[in-house]
Amino acid sequence: MNDQEKLKTSGEYVNALKKMRPNIITDKLLEKPFEDEDIQKGMNVICLSYDCAQDPEQKDIMTARSPLNGKIINRYNYIPRTKEDLKKRLQMINILSKEVVCAQRCVGGDALYALFVGTHKLDKSNKDKTDYHQRLLKYLRYIQDNDIAPAAAVTDAKGDRSLLPFQQMEKGSYVHIVKKTDEGIYVSGIKTPITMSLYTEEIIVMPGLQLSENDKDFAIAFAIQGDADGIERYVLGPEVKSMKGDHAPTHGRKYLNKEGMIVFNNVFVPNQRIFLCGEHRFGATFANLFATLHRFSYTACKPALFDIMTGTAMLISEYNGTKGEYFLSNTSEKILEIAKASILVSGMAKAAIEMAKVDESGAIFPDSVYANMGKFISSELFPKTVSILQDMAGSLPANLPYENLLKDEQYQKTVKTLFARSKGISAEDHYKLNEFIRVLVASTESGLLQIGSKHGGGNKEAEKVAIYANSLRWMFNCKNMVKKMVLKSN
Ligand SMILES: Cc1cc2nc3c(=O)[nH]c(=O)nc-3n(C[C@H](O)[C@H](O)[C@H](O)COP(=O)(O)OP(=O)(O)OC[C@H]3O[C@@H](n4cnc5c(N)ncnc54)[C@H](O)[C@@H]3O)c2cc1C
Repeated sequence: MNDQEKLKTSGEYVNALKKMRPNIITDKLLEKPFEDEDIQKGMNVICLSYDCAQDPEQKDIMTARSPLNGKIINRYNYIPRTKEDLKKRLQMINILSKEVVCAQRCVGGDALYALFVGTHKLDKSNKDKTDYHQRLLKYLRYIQDNDIAPAAAVTDAKGDRSLLPFQQMEKGSYVHIVKKTDEGIYVSGIKTPITMSLYTEEIIVMPGLQLSENDKDFAIAFAIQGDADGIERYVLGPEVKSMKGDHAPTHGRKYLNKEGMIVFNNVFVPNQRIFLCGEHRFGATFANLFATLHRFSYTACKPALFDIMTGTAMLISEYNGTKGEYFLSNTSEKILEIAKASILVSGMAKAAIEMAKVDESGAIFPDSVYANMGKFISSELFPKTVSILQDMAGSLPANLPYENLLKDEQYQKTVKTLFARSKGISAEDHYKLNEFIRVLVASTESGLLQIGSKHGGGNKEAEKVAIYANSLRWMFNCKNMVKKMVLKSN
């Protein structure tokens, strides 16, 4: 048996989930959560990451050899060491996103990556009196050996945004230590919304903000089984309904983003799974490392989405006969605006890789300014691209008749007349394309994508702070340059 054959299959991933203690709640506790249609569609997204890793043709992109266990592992669980690694990581996310829209698994992979770098820094700052990095390496090996796809829980419920964690009226607004023993810690609190948390075996918990000395109880990072005692997982977005029609696109019919809320009720975490415990100064370090890496991942998935929208815009203009230019409606200019988003964000990804530096931990780290700018540009341009596609498609995506009518002898003639456009394009194909556009720009799924593009990996303000803080030296140099140019004596 070669290395490739030993990788976990998607069937094994599903079976592992089915063995877990039921703790998933919609409006009631689900006895068999992995038979829920929407949760299954979320699981299908993760299954694809396992299936692609098994495919010999995709092996180079989807897998890597781990220096920890010497085996071929899923690239999501691999810590990049070279620029080539970073390139392949983004290629993997981009390829998967083109199939499933949001590949989801990057969040957990980014948390492992951030903890690899962060725990090394933390031990060094503690003059190696702590062994967080060794604990992390042991855990990482466990994840790699068992080919687990973890979720990452960084965002807390947060309560009153103007107050620090220790000032909150409700302590559970942030995950915190309730009790410490020689064996570990007990934690409580809420993390939400957490991607793929409903269909994961493992959850990685990290702090999401800067912490003060009074916030020591909130300065924690750890890993925990998704069904550990005291954990409840709530299914979010009840209004996001699966699409069932023959003409529905794969995103909706087969794949879905199902977010979850994780509630910790006095959950025990053993010492070997704790990667930060009370060192409040490192709250910001861990949060920033994760945020930069996750925003870097966005520079791969968002170009995938912009490419999908570029192609959709081209196709709908072909179908509708609006391809040519006519007074006050320049189609090629509109398409270029969508393509521009893809080019700009991909360019930021390339720059972040080009400027990446190897950290003392041995991991390579993408450039923070370009990674953050990539996400910043993508969230700025996403609403614009959605708006262009809404404009180009006209009202049909939001006003489709029932698809069954296409097969109904009595009504199909009328419906086909509605779709009659250019010769050679069937009403069925036209319906499919409009249904696809509806999902992309006029559905609850679209709402989730739009909010995800804004808030996923942190909001715009946080991105601006990261860009500004890391650009100050250069900005001051600019000022000095102008001082010399303008104020120099003649
Ligand atoms: C689709 C999706 C998937 C996600 N997946 C994950 C995941 O897997 N793991 C994870 O950890 N998180 C995840 N998140 C959470 C995401 O990181 C957060 O949504 C993001 O950090 C913003 O936090 P928030 O939603 O609490 O909004 P808020 O922080 O409340 O922001 C709302 C607005 O308030 C402003 N604001 C915030 N604080 C202040 C203040 N003190 N003063 C003035 N203005 C303020 C912000 O700038 C923003 O404009 C996901 C989010 C989405 C939408």
